[in-house]
Amino acid sequence: MKLHHAIFLAMLAGGIAGALTQEQSTLLGIPLLAGYDLIGSLFINALKMVVVPLIVTAIISGMVGVGQGKSVGRMGIKTLALYMTTTLVAVLIGLLMVNLFAPGIIDGTPARDLLGLSANTHEALASVKDRGAGDFTDILRQMLPPNLIAAAANGQMLGLIVFSLLFGYFLRVEKGQAPQTLRELIEGIYLVVMRITMLIIRFTPVGVFALIAATVTRTGLDAIIPLAWFFATVLVALFTHAFVFMPLMIRLVARRSPLRHVQAMTPALLTAFSSASSAATLPLTMECVQKRAGVSPRTSSFVLPLGATVNMDGTALYECVAAMFIAQAYGMDLSLTTQFMIVLTAVLTSIGVASIPAASLVAITVILGAIGLPLEAIGLILVTDRVLDMCRTAVNIWGDSVVSVLLARSEGEEQVLSLPVSQMEQRAQSAR
Ligand code: ASP
Repeated sequence: MKLHHAIFLAMLAGGIAGALTQEQSTLLGIPLLAGYDLIGSLFINALKMVVVPLIVTAIISGMVGVGQGKSVGRMGIKTLALYMTTTLVAVLIGLLMVNLFAPGIIDGTPARDLLGLSANTHEALASVKDRGAGDFTDILRQMLPPNLIAAAANGQMLGLIVFSLLFGYFLRVEKGQAPQTLRELIEGIYLVVMRITMLIIRFTPVGVFALIAATVTRTGLDAIIPLAWFFATVLVALFTHAFVFMPLMIRLVARRSPLRHVQAMTPALLTAFSSASSAATLPLTMECVQKRAGVSPRTSSFVLPLGATVNMDGTALYECVAAMFIAQAYGMDLSLTTQFMIVLTAVLTSIGVASIPAASLVAITVILGAIGLPLEAIGLILVTDRVLDMCRTAVNIWGDSVVSVLLARSEGEEQVLSLPVSQMEQRAQSAR
């Protein structure tokens, strides 16, 4: 069975298993939820295990392979420009939808009292406090970490990326035997880490089953009902960005089939959805973009680690819709200046948000602070956060993969999405 079909079936089975499981259910004396949690976290841990060596070696060997001095700068500028533009478009789509749907206003009155704050707002806020995006200066600080090992250990990938870019840049220009050996060594580590990644990927259906079953057992759908309109607004906006705007870019700018790209990325998208973590999904994203969509390692090694860390279209869109929703529910007067502030802060904070579950919440409190609303107001949206996190993380990964296709095509890569996915995979296999 093809991997994406297996993952899809596993997801459905996970949903059914989760719906049939209560938090206290047991099977042969084993607590089911604890079992799902264990399997899910083993899968996520395995992926996270390869993330640091993968980011470092991928970026360094990507930089070494980029070629002449000028093209590094050109690729860098193009990548950042594409990241900023797509994120801005995502936020504007969110802004449009939240103004159209006005989910915070029910029957003409602000819905604050009707919805009610979550009881565990303070706990939830405390638990996500160190998830990055405190403010913009934090992002700058993260870029130059005083201690590289500490940054890697704490999942602050931005510092690791900046260091790897510098390292790769200078390793590329250095002449002599020692740098050459080092280049080969790093390339070798990269190849081996990718092999380990492929092994982990074989377990994706099992991991996805467990993650979905655990989430469905815990969340249930009743929690979502009072916030259904907000929920729908976010989904429609995410859908418009991911399935209208992005496919148009693939079709018109990259001149390739968007459908084929969706097929290529399905394993990564479903994993992002199940895990709600772009960082944990990165190994799969790299594998799908390279082997199934045919983007060269040179381009994808450069674009994807950076993208998983700084390019979050779904997150930025969600931040904007959530902040606007809360402002509507509090009856705030939403002038154009306020809306502009929200858009700007959503774009900027999405860069600094960590690629882990629930990381957006902190960024949303930053926006609330900036427009003068109390931070506890975030309690309005806590119950729906997990499911929407799953959706926005999938859109984050989708955004990164689309940018890598656009960039690869603009660099003249003809092979990108030129064949159906199965043939692409066969070609990658025989090239090994
Ligand atoms: N969970 C998201 C990610 O990993 C970040 C967020 O929006 O909370 O991409």
